[in-house]
Amino acid sequence: MSEVSQGKRVVVVGAGWAGLGATYHLAKQGYDVTLLEAGSYPGGLVAGWKTATGRSVEAGIHGFWYPYKNIFSLINELGISPFTSWTRSSQYSPAGLEVESPIFQELPQLPTPLGTFLYTQFKRLPLVDRLSALPLLYSIIDFDNSDEAWRRYDFVTARELFKDFGVSARLYSESFEPMLLVGLFAPGEQCSAAATLGMLYYFILAHQPDFDVVWCRGTVGEKIFRPWVERIEKAGGKVLANRRVTDLIVDSDNQAKGVVCNDEVFDADAVIFAVGITGMKKILSSSLSLQSRAEFRNVSNLGAVDVLATRLWFDRKIHIKRPSNACFGFDATTGWTFFDLNALHDEYSNEPGTVVEADFYHANQFLSLENEEIVPIVQRYLATCVPEFREAKVIDSSVIRLPQAVTHFAPGSYRYMLRAKTSFKNVFMSGDWIVNRHGSWSQEKAYVTGLEAANLAISYFGEGTPAKILPVEADEAHIQLARTLNKSARQIVKSILPEFWLP
Ligand SMILES: Cc1cc2nc3c(=O)[nH]c(=O)nc-3n(C[C@H](O)[C@H](O)[C@H](O)COP(=O)(O)OP(=O)(O)OC[C@H]3O[C@@H](n4cnc5c(N)ncnc54)[C@H](O)[C@@H]3O)c2cc1C
Repeated sequence: MSEVSQGKRVVVVGAGWAGLGATYHLAKQGYDVTLLEAGSYPGGLVAGWKTATGRSVEAGIHGFWYPYKNIFSLINELGISPFTSWTRSSQYSPAGLEVESPIFQELPQLPTPLGTFLYTQFKRLPLVDRLSALPLLYSIIDFDNSDEAWRRYDFVTARELFKDFGVSARLYSESFEPMLLVGLFAPGEQCSAAATLGMLYYFILAHQPDFDVVWCRGTVGEKIFRPWVERIEKAGGKVLANRRVTDLIVDSDNQAKGVVCNDEVFDADAVIFAVGITGMKKILSSSLSLQSRAEFRNVSNLGAVDVLATRLWFDRKIHIKRPSNACFGFDATTGWTFFDLNALHDEYSNEPGTVVEADFYHANQFLSLENEEIVPIVQRYLATCVPEFREAKVIDSSVIRLPQAVTHFAPGSYRYMLRAKTSFKNVFMSGDWIVNRHGSWSQEKAYVTGLEAANLAISYFGEGTPAKILPVEADEAHIQLARTLNKSARQIVKSILPEFWLP
C-alpha cells in the first residue's frame, strides 16, 4: 500500500458500487477516507439484509453481464467466488413462452449482430418482424457514445427512434420495449434514444457474448459487499452507516472543506458524491452551497423511477425451466422479471419449497398497494408463465418498495446529468447517472465512475497511483470501419451546411 497520501482527508458520500469503488481505491493509496452512508447497510440499490424471521432479502436481483470486466477484476482481487456459472434466460408474455436465449459464448462466434439475431430462439415473433430491425443498424453505427452523439439522439424518444427506422409494431412491443423496461426501467416513450442505443449496444450488440450473465449465489450484500467492506477497513478506510449528508461546506476559495450530516461535521480535503439522483436532489434541497451552482440546481430537472422487489416462498417444488426470466405485456408500462432462487442461491438450493424473486420496474401503480394485495398479483402473474404456481400456497413473502430509486434516462435529460468534475475544484461526482465516456451501464458503470472519481482526487492532490480502469472491448472491425465512414460523411455534410438542421 502507498503511504504517500496519508493525512489527506477524502469524504465519500453514498455506499453503493460507486462510493465503495472510490473508497477502496483511495484507502489503498493511503488516503484518510471516510465513506458516509445514509442507510443502515452499505450496498445502495444492491444492499441485502435479513428479515425478522432470518430470511435473506434484497432490493432486487442483480445480474452481472459478460462485459462487466472491472467488477470481475475486483472480484478476482478480493479472492472471492460469489457467482453462478453463465445462465440461460427466457422471456414470457401473457401468451406464454416467447423467447429463449442460449449461452452465446458457447456458440460459434459470428460478426455482430449476426449471433444475437440467429441464435436467439423466438417462439412466436415472425421472421418478417425480426427483419424489420435491420434499418436500425444505421443508428447503432451512428451512435458512438460521443458527446455529439448523445446530443444528437437524447432529445428523441426510443419509440420515435424505432418508428422512424421502420421497426414493426410487434417487434417494438414484444422485443424492444421489454428490453427498455428491464434495461432502462421505463417504457419507450419515456426513454432517451441515446440511452437506448448505448444500453442495447453495451448489453446485447457490441459482441456476441455480451448478453451472457451470471448472478450472485446469495445476496450481493452478503457475497460481495461484506468481504469488500472488510477489505476497505483493513486498508484503513472508514465506512460509517446511518450518516445522511445534508450539506457541503465550502470556503471563499471555491474549495469544499467538509460535509454536514445533521449535527455532525466531517472535515475534508476533497469530497466525492456517490449518491443517486433522488439522493442528490435531497442533499440539494438542504444545501445552500450546492444551490449556489447552476449545475447542481439543474439536477432538479432529472428524475428517477419506482421499482418493486418481491420474494415469495411457496409450499412445494415447482419446476422453472430457466433461472432468470423477463416478462412483458402484463401491464402497459411495467416490465418484470422472476428468478428461481432455488437454482441461483446456495441458501435455497435444499429448500423443500420454491423461492422466487419477482421484481417490477416502472412499478409506479403498485407501490401504494398493501402487501396483501401485491402478493396475489405476483402469484397470478407467475402462474401465467408457469401454471404450477396456481395451485401452490405462499407460505412467506417479502415486499420491498423502492420509490424513485433508479435513474430515469428521460429524453432531454443528458444536458442536466452531472460530469465527474464539478465547478468546485475538489468535489467529484460518481454513480450510474454521471456522464462519462467509458461506455458501460448499471453496476459496472457505477463502479467505473467511482474509480474515475478516485482518479480525479488523486490527480487533484498529485499523490498516489490512479486506479487501472479496463476499457470496454473495442468495436469489431466492421463496426469500426462503418463508424469511420459515417463520421467522415457527417463531417462533409457539416462543412457544407454547418448547424443547419436540428441535431
Ligand atoms: C430492482 C433493481 C434491479 C436492478 N438490476 C440490475 C442488474 O441486473 N444489473 C445491473 O448491473 N444493475 C441493476 N440495477 C441497477 C444497479 O442497482 C445500479 O445501477 C447501481 O447499483 C447504482 O450504484 P450507485 O453506486 O451509482 O448508486 P446507489 O446504489 O443508488 O448508491 C447510492 C447510495 O447513496 C446513499 N445515499 C443517498 N443519499 C445519501 C445522503 N444524503 N448521505 C449519505 N448517503 C446517501 C444511498 O443510501 C445509497 O446507498 C438494478 C436496480 C434495481 C433497483
